[in-house]
Amino acid sequence: MSEHLEEFKAIIADVDDLYKAQSVLNWDQQAYMPPGGAQARASQVATLSRLAHERFTSERVGALLDLLSAETRDLPYEDDTVSMLRVLQREYVKAVRLPAAFVAELAEASGLATTAWAQARAANDWHGFESHLAHMLELKQREAEYLGYSDRMYDALLDEYEPGMKTAQVTEIFDAVRRELVPLVQTIRAHSDRVEDAAVLRHYDPDKQWALAHEALRAIGYDFERGRMDRVPHPFCTTFSNHDVRVTNRILPDFFNSCLFGALHEGGHALYEQGSPDKFERTALAGGASLGVHESQSRLWENLVGRSRAFWEFFFPKFKRTFRKNAADLDAEKMYRAVNKVQPSLIRVEADEVTYSLHVMLRFEAENLLLENKLRVAELPAWWDEAMSSYLGITPPDVAQGVLQDVHWSMGLYGYFPTYSLGTFFSAQLFEQARKELGNLDAQFAQGEFEPLRQWLQQKIYQHGRKFTLNELANQITGEPLQTRSYIAYLKNKYAEIYGL
Ligand code: ZN
Repeated sequence: MSEHLEEFKAIIADVDDLYKAQSVLNWDQQAYMPPGGAQARASQVATLSRLAHERFTSERVGALLDLLSAETRDLPYEDDTVSMLRVLQREYVKAVRLPAAFVAELAEASGLATTAWAQARAANDWHGFESHLAHMLELKQREAEYLGYSDRMYDALLDEYEPGMKTAQVTEIFDAVRRELVPLVQTIRAHSDRVEDAAVLRHYDPDKQWALAHEALRAIGYDFERGRMDRVPHPFCTTFSNHDVRVTNRILPDFFNSCLFGALHEGGHALYEQGSPDKFERTALAGGASLGVHESQSRLWENLVGRSRAFWEFFFPKFKRTFRKNAADLDAEKMYRAVNKVQPSLIRVEADEVTYSLHVMLRFEAENLLLENKLRVAELPAWWDEAMSSYLGITPPDVAQGVLQDVHWSMGLYGYFPTYSLGTFFSAQLFEQARKELGNLDAQFAQGEFEPLRQWLQQKIYQHGRKFTLNELANQITGEPLQTRSYIAYLKNKYAEIYGL
């Protein structure tokens, strides 16, 4: 290893440590910290964030990137060092555009806004959050100006989460999918009585739900020696190293889907992170390619696996053993149908597969309007209710189940929502390919054999860490860029069968 590379890697390792320490503090803030800790925690996170930013944006890093790019000019695109330099060059160019004071201001404001959001949501009080949201929005507009964009302000922010993706492309993809989804939702609604979901709406003991979620995670290969699950209001997965990948989850005593599918969803993210190779640790290549690719993994395990008939053939006996009396009148087929009930609902994270992307499209639209000052923060709750009514035909009874439901905007995550749907579309494209290459997946799932699929994903996705973009991976694995054909075909086939359409 050249002297330059050694020096460069040492700096990057420091920066990585600072970001990971920040992740530990964020995890604790959401899982365990008492409300009184908010102010001090916001300062601590801001300090770490400032130190990481200063270390990464030093002139020395810029000089080393130039030297090393020249030194590695003849190496192939997929080479580890070349890939590391490519990913960091992209980030460096952006990071130097953000003044350190601004980065600290943003981190501190988002810490305070996140706490205010949690309290406002619990109290169902829009005004407790309104000024924080306005402040965060103003900061994100400034951020977009610092970063620069040629077409839409949104492009600057979207690129943070989905490198290379443009607002115009997302709009085009969303429009195409919306054209298919809206009539499908209408047809299903007209036959809503054909699927009974009372089985998931009865009371299930919270402790038993928690135990069953652990069983599901073990079944798909999540390694508890390198992870754990804790309770939070808004589930997420976070990584401190590939040997410490945490999932968080929630339990709704009277709605079975939330805890189990929350576990499978976050577990899908966690398998990706646990599958990141040791050689990438502290190099900036560890973890997931982009948020869209990450979401393809969570949605794949949550829906294409967890909501399949074959999964329920395997999992139902465990379910029945766990809940006994409460599940006495149920069988695998009834549960399969109940967990696949389609109906417009208020909460994005609990939405069914068919209506899910409509929730995302609504947020994508709101973010663009807010950023471009076409909608004022004060008008947002009323806009939200109207949009829910036009997209999904329902109106939230209060702000907690409406505009205040997601943590993202309080954390400064604007441009993040579309990645949920891009990932969902990609998951179907990947799964179709896995079916071609792995034989009868249903027979494997029915036996509780998820290892062949996980190994396939290890080979195709996990082992590459952050080397490739979503479209690069899609091309390598399936021979074409991201497409929505597989997703639409999957939904139509599955729900035509379930609803007898
Ligand atoms: Zn996710």
